[in-house]
Amino acid sequence: MGGGVAGMSAACSLAEAGLSVRVVERRNCLGGRASSFLHPGVGEVIDNCQHVLFGCCTNLIGFYERIGVADRIHWTSEMTMIEPGGRRSVLGPSWLPAPLHSLPRFLAASAFTVGDKLALGRAFRVLMGPIPSNSTESLAVWLLRQKQTSGALNRFWRLVIASALNADIESISLPYAAKVIRELFMNSAEAGRMGVSTVPLGELNACAAEFLGRRDSSVLLNTAVESATWDSETSQWTLATAAGPLRSDFVVLALPFEAMSKLLPNMPSAEQAATLAAQLVRHEHWPICSVHLWFDREITNLEHAVLLDRQIHWMYNKGRTQPRRVSNGSYLELVVSASRDFAALPSDQAIARSVGELAEFFPAVRTARLEKAARVKETRATFGVFPGVDSARPTSASPWPHCFLAGDWTATGWPSTMESAARSGHLAAEAVCRSVGRPRIFLNPDLMPKGLMRFAGTGSVPSELGRRQA
Ligand SMILES: Cc1cc2nc3c(=O)[nH]c(=O)nc-3n(C[C@H](O)[C@H](O)[C@H](O)COP(=O)(O)OP(=O)(O)OC[C@H]3O[C@@H](n4cnc5c(N)ncnc54)[C@H](O)[C@@H]3O)c2cc1C
Repeated sequence: MGGGVAGMSAACSLAEAGLSVRVVERRNCLGGRASSFLHPGVGEVIDNCQHVLFGCCTNLIGFYERIGVADRIHWTSEMTMIEPGGRRSVLGPSWLPAPLHSLPRFLAASAFTVGDKLALGRAFRVLMGPIPSNSTESLAVWLLRQKQTSGALNRFWRLVIASALNADIESISLPYAAKVIRELFMNSAEAGRMGVSTVPLGELNACAAEFLGRRDSSVLLNTAVESATWDSETSQWTLATAAGPLRSDFVVLALPFEAMSKLLPNMPSAEQAATLAAQLVRHEHWPICSVHLWFDREITNLEHAVLLDRQIHWMYNKGRTQPRRVSNGSYLELVVSASRDFAALPSDQAIARSVGELAEFFPAVRTARLEKAARVKETRATFGVFPGVDSARPTSASPWPHCFLAGDWTATGWPSTMESAARSGHLAAEAVCRSVGRPRIFLNPDLMPKGLMRFAGTGSVPSELGRRQA
């Protein structure tokens, strides 16, 4: 139930294992929060937001490999940071062993003062040691103890956390922040490389439907499940939908937490249902906005950039990374993470502000003609990983028989990402296979830390949660 990354990865794994699977999806397309749609205002198929992955996202990559689209991801190891006015710093790996591989370019980066670099170095050194996975400290409190400068806070911590965890440093759990920093900047150059799709997300998702279609499985779109009943005599579930009842031997509930809350009162009563309800109410969503701009000319030859000290955080040059899209001119997407203020702005004001800020980084904007523009606001983009969040994340076991939970918010040890969704799908598929007496492993192993990171303290992050379940 639910055709997001979690539902698709569970379904494709199970279909590969020889089970006949049906994905029941409320909307008219697969992909959930990672999908494309025809924007009526601009007449273009756009992704609901730029989605990036990293080399450490082994389960998402495993899912893409399974459905045959891994070659549509374009990888890059360089990240250009731009200050208002245009001064650039390029971060990226060198020949040095991890975690020193990024050091030479970091030391040369003009975006940070000597004081910022010393402060960041101190914090990174502490992160090489273990951070207890049950720590309930927020990142902000920890950073205060690490005596971070305002440059380090604003140009590194706030920016990285907003981009990777879509929240502010005050509300983020230290172990999750530590996990992200280690994976993206410390463990290895491979783990930290960034991938973007060279085609709209909808094209990747369509390949999941084709994969299922070739394996005695199918996708049922425009079908919301309203309630579910369990018959212990026939050992079957009946799902109620507007199109009529659907029967199945097993169910994977791969819904976002608010949809799960809505369905819960319409599920059979069960002992553990109250515990699940109590976990669900603890979650909170954070917004992400994207601003899509079509100009009559090239604005920059960069594929993407981090924009410092302004409300817009990232620029993605979609005309370059998805070359089929633009014949003349350029198509840029700007991403504003973790900003409820920006999300509250009316669309035209949000676009005007974004274009104004963009011109501070790329002067070509001032002379270019903006041909069309759209702002996409996702108020329920991601869930926050607040201190103590793990006790609100259930495993794939559900309160009901023959029924398993998936979704990015379940206990994967990862923040709200496609990787977490893919992991949860793989874990739920493993649980189904165990139940039918045909155990299979679908969870893709983590990348091993390299260089000096092989000797760094482990157990800093709750990724062991996913492993234990497996
Ligand atoms: C704007 C934005 C930017 C993001 N950027 C990134 C990024 O750069 N990198 C990254 O890794 N992640 C990113 N994410 C997060 C990522 O998209 C999600 O973590 C992931 O897609 C969640 O997948 P899921 O399958 O768990 O849930 P969902 O994608 O929410 O899928 C759940 C599905 O269930 C369906 N459904 C709900 N109720 C019912 C019902 N009753 N019956 C049937 N179907 C139902 C929904 O329609 C939906 O399709 C971003 C998210 C957003 C919104």
